Amino acid sequence: MRRILCVGRNYAAHRREMGGDDREPPFFFAKPADAVRAAGSRLPFPSVTTNLHHEVELVVALGSGGVDIPADEALTRVFGYAVGVDLTRRDLQSAAKEKGQPWESSKAFDASAPMGPIRPWSGAPPQGRIALRVNGAPRQDAYLSDMIWSVPDIIAQASRLWALEAGDLIFTGTPEGVGPLNPGDEVSCDIQSVGSLAFSLDSRS
Ligand code: MN
Repeated sequence: MRRILCVGRNYAAHRREMGGDDREPPFFFAKPADAVRAAGSRLPFPSVTTNLHHEVELVVALGSGGVDIPADEALTRVFGYAVGVDLTRRDLQSAAKEKGQPWESSKAFDASAPMGPIRPWSGAPPQGRIALRVNGAPRQDAYLSDMIWSVPDIIAQASRLWALEAGDLIFTGTPEGVGPLNPGDEVSCDIQSVGSLAFSLDSRS
């Protein structure tokens, strides 16, 4: 993979649970490419945070790129889709927001992007159910069709800001139900017709 772009506030119900303004559009941030961890991994519990959150997301993997890609051509750039989790140090994110500081330490930390295998795909993007469980208990359960920016919109918007290339990954935002994770937790996620992802959190390293 080349780099990881992420969409923030792309589901209305999640935007509300984060205290967002209904008129504000989604936006982008980024994680380093080496934050990806494969499904089945045992991840070290991240340092510093006392409020690590899960955010299950559809991940788009690009097979080609470009600049200023029209939304009606955007799906031709897609190689496939995967299940990902945008792990978030929510306490550090809240502090950064309050101070108007960057989000890197809350979003772009080591092993912050566990991700399942990429399923090759052509045509209309997946629209089905997206769900996450912690130790078997349901936490997030929603539909991809509730995204504010659709996959073609996201690719078109991103390509105005960056020259996209093959190997770029885009985390497309999380639905409502984000919440805390603790050392020892087992996380499992599914996206209908795309696949699944499971990982566990070790005790603090
Ligand atoms: Mn997210």
